[in-house]
Amino acid sequence: MLTNSLVELDRQHLVHPVSSFRGHEARGVRVLRSAKGATVTDTEGRELLDGFAGLWCVNAGYGHESVVEAAADQMRKLPYATGYFDLGAEAPIRLAAELAERSPGDLNHIYFSLGGSDAVDSTIRFIRYYWHAKGQPQRDQFISVEQGYHGSTSMAAGLTALPGFHEGFGIPYQWQHKISSHYAYRNPAQSAEEIVAASVAELRAKVSEIGEDKVAAFYVEPIQGSGGILVPPKGWMKAMRDVCAELEILFVADEVITAFGRTGPLFACEDEGIVPDLMTTAKGLTSGYVPMGAVFMRNHVYETIADGAGAKAVGHGFTYSAHPVSAAVALEVLYLYEGGLLENGRKAGARLMAGLETLRDHPLVGDVRGRGMLAAVELVTDKEKKTPLPASVQPATRLFDRAWEQGLIVRSFPQGIFGYAPPLCCTEAEIDAIVERTRTVLDQTLEDPEIR
Ligand code: PMP
Repeated sequence: MLTNSLVELDRQHLVHPVSSFRGHEARGVRVLRSAKGATVTDTEGRELLDGFAGLWCVNAGYGHESVVEAAADQMRKLPYATGYFDLGAEAPIRLAAELAERSPGDLNHIYFSLGGSDAVDSTIRFIRYYWHAKGQPQRDQFISVEQGYHGSTSMAAGLTALPGFHEGFGIPYQWQHKISSHYAYRNPAQSAEEIVAASVAELRAKVSEIGEDKVAAFYVEPIQGSGGILVPPKGWMKAMRDVCAELEILFVADEVITAFGRTGPLFACEDEGIVPDLMTTAKGLTSGYVPMGAVFMRNHVYETIADGAGAKAVGHGFTYSAHPVSAAVALEVLYLYEGGLLENGRKAGARLMAGLETLRDHPLVGDVRGRGMLAAVELVTDKEKKTPLPASVQPATRLFDRAWEQGLIVRSFPQGIFGYAPPLCCTEAEIDAIVERTRTVLDQTLEDPEIR
């Protein structure tokens, strides 16, 4: 009864993110009621293993009382403090200091946003300001990578390179450029070295085409997330970082998905020993309990902006920048990560990858890839030709529905890719269940006459 009325109210009033409005009206919402650990429960009492940590954000898992207490304490004491007018609060100051201490290299200055998109948007503004301050305002062109995702605000969505975020919105802007993805499984270049060399050559060519003195920054995700969980070959990030250093282009690592244990370490840049000029995070920062994102700047970026502005205000900020409740939550979540969740996530990630590898022999599995607790299984109807599932069957909803029936939530990408990003708290049994339920869905799909 309750469920029916909620479904109806949702249909009438709630606009869902990145959804076909009509498709959603037809299918209706599935209402989640509660969650604990890696398990969520819907309003019908159905329990589901959350193999995607919400939207790859609930890295710590659900139901940590200490996080709830941290938020409640902060709300009682001081629910809000602005950072304008030289004011501040203890939690965001402490959080900035803790993060600066742990971040790669001298990424020592942190601006807190509300999530990932506005963190990316903020980097674009800071970078423009930086080049103005350096006396090179003509450096106003930005490059990102095909299949990349950098958010959904107008400027960030233009760096995003997924057509669905552009069509009908009049973006990307003219100053937003792309180079090809490393997408190893579908890359004409085969070896890791060839893929790295091709990307390096393409970035150099793109910079020459735009004009060497016109490029402001290059954006990458350490692992491309929303484009289908595409893991670059080892050395790719480092090679791209080196090209940017040589050409004096700012290198931005968008770690919105990959930070906070998702790939193993606290930040995925550590996997290749890289220090980007700017870095964005969100999601795992608060483990999704409350909204918050962060822009990390290296000393030289901060100092250039600071000197450029002098006594003037740098005109960028939100009412909820450095929100004390979000910061209190982030501090507690950081404590949980370091108190064992990172360690558990590393073990669980190795088990997840090993488990998914056992699916490689399945007739529908073209590729298995990932790092840590971030993985994908790409489905094809012909392994030799790497033929994707037919778009006509709408793999995104069909595969998602089948997994749901098995008591598993996974991301199902439109091109027929299963995406996994379970909470770091997963037990061995839960990881095994994710793999086994996937196998069941694959077997069912093999029998589906519309797909084969
Ligand atoms: N950057 C990356 C790499 C992301 O994956 C996302 C979100 N999935 C964003 C930016 C945008 O973050 P948000 O949805 O919090 O605005």
